[in-house]
Amino acid sequence: MSVLTGTPLLPTYARFPVTFVDGEGSWLVADDGQRYLDLIAGIAVVSLGHCHPAPLAAAHAQLERLWHVSNLYSTEPMEHLAERLSARFGGAHAFFCNSGTEAIEAALKWARKATEKTDFVALEGSFHGRTMGSLSITGQPSKRAPFEPLIPGVHFATPETIADHVGPQTAAIVLEIVQGEGGVKPLSDEVLHDARELADDNGAMLIFDEVQTGVGRTGEFFAWQHSGVKPDAVTLAKGLANGLPIGALLVRDGAPTGFVPGDHASTFGGNPVACAAACAVVDAIDDVLLEHVRDMGALFAEALPEVRGAGLLLAVELHHPAGPVAHAALEKGVLVGTAGDTALRLAPPLTISREEVQHGIATLQEVIAS
Ligand SMILES: *Cc1c(COP(=O)(O)O)cnc(C)c1O
Repeated sequence: MSVLTGTPLLPTYARFPVTFVDGEGSWLVADDGQRYLDLIAGIAVVSLGHCHPAPLAAAHAQLERLWHVSNLYSTEPMEHLAERLSARFGGAHAFFCNSGTEAIEAALKWARKATEKTDFVALEGSFHGRTMGSLSITGQPSKRAPFEPLIPGVHFATPETIADHVGPQTAAIVLEIVQGEGGVKPLSDEVLHDARELADDNGAMLIFDEVQTGVGRTGEFFAWQHSGVKPDAVTLAKGLANGLPIGALLVRDGAPTGFVPGDHASTFGGNPVACAAACAVVDAIDDVLLEHVRDMGALFAEALPEVRGAGLLLAVELHHPAGPVAHAALEKGVLVGTAGDTALRLAPPLTISREEVQHGIATLQEVIAS
């Protein structure tokens, strides 16, 4: 057993050796003044770029008026955000929380309550978060093993074997349309259609975890819009408030209500400042920006070898360890993530310019080749 020494932070992260102090658009500035092109955007979070004027102004104005009252009362930003998300979804009711994993917890509890069933079907290689419930449906044994026993009744499938695991006890099938942390692996439209049918045939809910793919990241507001397969519920978080903490569960109008007062709650959920910023983000994600996301994604895909993903959620498969390449890119002033062991992950601000994409591509070509 090792013991705690050094920096007074629990060692849950192997951080890159850099400290950031400023950000603007697609660029970050470190404490030594060095500028970096940000192709990871706080892990697909800072969707409009750092310090974008719209969410900045909205959050600032709300900070000057009211920070928090709890969900014992209503606040305008939360209602405005629910209205906007419902309109984008085509009719939905929202529960707000503060992170992706909390959105998944809400979805799991809602599905059990709505169906009065216990079991969940999720995919091998999936990632749904780190709290006990969401970890229970995360299909990565190495992340789960040290924390077992987790919640029972979870069945892991491959995209081809979902049908073998769905039955009368299934409360929900939970899918990422593009597996994010699991390596940027998109599901085919056919798998999504089949999952919809299986859920309907078995009285189960179909839940799409769009914590990473949602809010424009793949070139549609929701990634499910590419296939037209509409889920019963969807989770959102990362990109929703441009970096302020927020999560949301949206439940389709016409689906079972599930929750009644007292079933679920969050003290901070629906925070007025986060919701005000999120309203500005949602308003900024229009057809012009979505087309830009698809165009910039295509630029990366044309210039770099073996790119997979959708829109601006991309992996570059290297077939050798990606960590050293990400560090080499950092040294050349470009921030990228990794997806699994052998791929780079790109999730830049959706607003990244053509020139910035070209600068990123040139640097990545250089570090991949060396
Ligand atoms: C990041 C992520 C989560 C967890 O979100 P946190 O805000 O880190 O709790 C859940 N699902 C997916 C698909 C994610 O990408």
